[in-house]
Amino acid sequence: MIPFLDLKSINAQYRNELIEACTRIIDSGWYIQGNECKEFEKEFAEYCGTKYAIGVANGLDALILILRAYKELGMMNDGDEVIVPSNTYIASILAISQNNLVPVLVEPDINTYLIDTSKIEEKITSKTKAVMPVHLYGQTCEMDKISEIAKKYNLKVIEDSAQAHGAYFADKRAGNLGDASGFSFYPGKNLGALGDGGAVTTNDEALAGAIKALGNYGSHKKYENFYKGVNSRLDEMQAALLKVKLRYLDDEIEKRRAIADYYLENIKNPAILLPTIGRPLSTNSHVWHLFVIRTAKRDELQKYLLENGIQTLIHYPIPPHKQNAYKEWQNDVYPISDRIHNEVLSLPISGVQSLEDTQKIVKLINFKL
Ligand SMILES: *Cc1c(COP(=O)(O)O)cnc(C)c1O
Repeated sequence: MIPFLDLKSINAQYRNELIEACTRIIDSGWYIQGNECKEFEKEFAEYCGTKYAIGVANGLDALILILRAYKELGMMNDGDEVIVPSNTYIASILAISQNNLVPVLVEPDINTYLIDTSKIEEKITSKTKAVMPVHLYGQTCEMDKISEIAKKYNLKVIEDSAQAHGAYFADKRAGNLGDASGFSFYPGKNLGALGDGGAVTTNDEALAGAIKALGNYGSHKKYENFYKGVNSRLDEMQAALLKVKLRYLDDEIEKRRAIADYYLENIKNPAILLPTIGRPLSTNSHVWHLFVIRTAKRDELQKYLLENGIQTLIHYPIPPHKQNAYKEWQNDVYPISDRIHNEVLSLPISGVQSLEDTQKIVKLINFKL
């Protein structure tokens, strides 16, 4: 069986260094809010090119805390609107509604699956305060156009970079393309912890300070509570493990690119649409968190691949507007999202996948349909 993602083998590559990190933390006697988290924050900010990175408990919290901080800083109020793509993972949208803000869905481009920047302006109202581009599947959105719109309407740009660690738009990396960005270190992400983890990156000092405090009971200073905060912190163990894995992230991305290139060059099946690299056409803009193909015969293809020992997944089977959690949208129509959700299939891709396995997958796909 070729698994969709072999996390055990991925982490086994760094086994000795990960064990060394664990041992160091166990022996330190210091498990929350210590030097490991501080060092990881510094290294991750440097990697993204931002002034600040703040470790938090997970990617959803990273996005929640960005919006919460803007509210605390007086820049957003209950009922304000945030624009977000209609085909994103549900967490982007949950972060907005958890803050008593209103998610306003904009359809994606049918080729890149990224928010269609030509459809943003028509959704802007006097209540719109932010736009949340999602660098879905590992490819950065059209950030020049989004920045232009944001400037014109005085909106904050909050990147959801949970799938795009290391991806570029022009000469800047995800996390440094807007006002603030949320990252996830869920184990399956390109930079994955061995448990939950997340971070916010930003160049805004006031925002960074507010997020740091909000994630620590609203406290800048021990036993003094400036905000009604929450507990959302990146613990020392995860930070130490992430420090190890961050050093290899660019290598992992290169290996993913090699597999993606192989798929792009060798999958030749008229029934299948391969992923499209958006503008600016750049090999740096995509880190291939997921390699997503599209076909009208999706379910049939998935079954056939499974019967032949290849595990695939669907990202995602149900669009947000059809989720029970958002019943209020059940009569709204998002045909492009519906189509994407009905037709996409994610092929296995990772830093440990052998050329042999990749060749086997391509051969099977070219034979069928
Ligand atoms: C994974 C993911 C999140 C949430 O991250 P968690 O760490 O799982 O909370 C948010 N947005 C997107 C696009 C994601 O893929």
